[in-house]
Amino acid sequence: MQSIYPFTFLDTLHIGIYLIDNQWRIRYVNNVGAEFLGKTRGDLLSKQIRNFFPEEGMLSYTQARRAMEQNTLTHIEYYAPHLKRWFETQYYPTTEGLNVLILDITQRKQTELLAQRQATLLELSTEAILTWRWPDPICYWNSGATRLYGFSKEEAVGQLPFSLLHTQFPEPLPSLYATMQRTGQWQGELKQIAKDGKPLVVECRMVLVTEDDGNQVILEINRDITERKALEQRKDEFINMASHELKTPVTTIKGLTQVLIRKLAQQGIQEPVFILTKMDAQIDRLTKLIDDLLNVSKIQAGRLDYDNLPVDMDTLVYETVALLQTSIPTHILRVSGATQAIVMGDKDRLGQVLTNLTTNAVKYSPQANRVDITLTRTHKHVQVAVRDYGIGIPKAAQQHIFERFYRVKSEKAVPGMGMGLYITFEIVKRHGGTLTVKSEEGKGSTFLLSLPLHEDNL
Ligand code: ADP
Repeated sequence: MQSIYPFTFLDTLHIGIYLIDNQWRIRYVNNVGAEFLGKTRGDLLSKQIRNFFPEEGMLSYTQARRAMEQNTLTHIEYYAPHLKRWFETQYYPTTEGLNVLILDITQRKQTELLAQRQATLLELSTEAILTWRWPDPICYWNSGATRLYGFSKEEAVGQLPFSLLHTQFPEPLPSLYATMQRTGQWQGELKQIAKDGKPLVVECRMVLVTEDDGNQVILEINRDITERKALEQRKDEFINMASHELKTPVTTIKGLTQVLIRKLAQQGIQEPVFILTKMDAQIDRLTKLIDDLLNVSKIQAGRLDYDNLPVDMDTLVYETVALLQTSIPTHILRVSGATQAIVMGDKDRLGQVLTNLTTNAVKYSPQANRVDITLTRTHKHVQVAVRDYGIGIPKAAQQHIFERFYRVKSEKAVPGMGMGLYITFEIVKRHGGTLTVKSEEGKGSTFLLSLPLHEDNL
């Protein structure tokens, strides 16, 4: 028989090949075909194929017979539990009988099963998941998206995602596209509108994937944060209202205390003056806390106003620190450097930045007696380093200290509300600058403020 089929190349294929005659005898089998059955060719040739295959399985007689009788190409897919593999069997009827090809398709099946499982997972997700070909309409829309937006798969697929959901972006679209092309992803908050007209806020993550054919696909996951945002807004409004309400009586008390101090001093009554002066200092602390609360809520609402005027940094730093020194008896505040640097911005707010950094440096270095403030100038920036020799900040906390209301856990004994560095950071950001920290626990911290120089000053 082998002389009739001298196709040795058939042995190089990863396909089992059997040529069967009209009496179901094996006329030819290649190496792989014999291997599938755990036999040699000699064992198989001229034998009845029934002796080697069970009735149903890799080779189905019903299908084979039908293929022969109807003279049509047929195929089946089959899982062989004893081999733990998937096979595809193809039947090609010929005038002499039947040619059977058996392919091991385990890898393809496993990929398909994995894809199926992933598809089920995507459907299970409570988040809205959608994909579209850049910049074409939506091609995938999961059940989470239907639940969130109210549009069914049929309604959404084929639509442009941004127009379907009336998406408002936190930044101009060209800059978002540029980020996507540069980094392959984008993350941010989107305002959208559901099918029933309900406004939504979602936390969006998009990934740009370039497929083998060069097409770009966006994978987008959106989480509904509408309620959280509404709650946050109510909380911010409350903080704003409460601090306004607190400010009026505190200002009155401050005024009255000063009147009392003056009157009693004029009458030469010393003891109450001493007590009232202490009270006055506490009122100042209270005022500072209320101002910080107001600033935080203004920043949140994007309503903190800034001047945009030239500011002489040397003068600002030396004057601010000199003023602070008058009320800080415990530490020497040492300023060095002269830069002649001018930046554009708000003098009072930049003063607030320096005051916050310096008072923190003092507050968190109770065992030390000095703070070093150094002014330097680089090609395009002026830098102010505020260095203390205090308790330092643990590594894990360093990335959080600029967040709103964040305080290092071990610092609960030191009074504070975790607002100063948040406000400071926001002010610096608004001036186009950066604020970073280097710190070692037990050795101290250095906060480095860097601001862009005014164009005329470059
Ligand atoms: P507050 O000082 O009111 O808690 P801040 O926002 O100014 O709030 O600071 C946030 C946290 O960062 C502080 O609670 C403190 O744990 C830490 N921190 C800030 N400055 C320093 C510093 N110079 N040294 C050590 N820890 C600091």
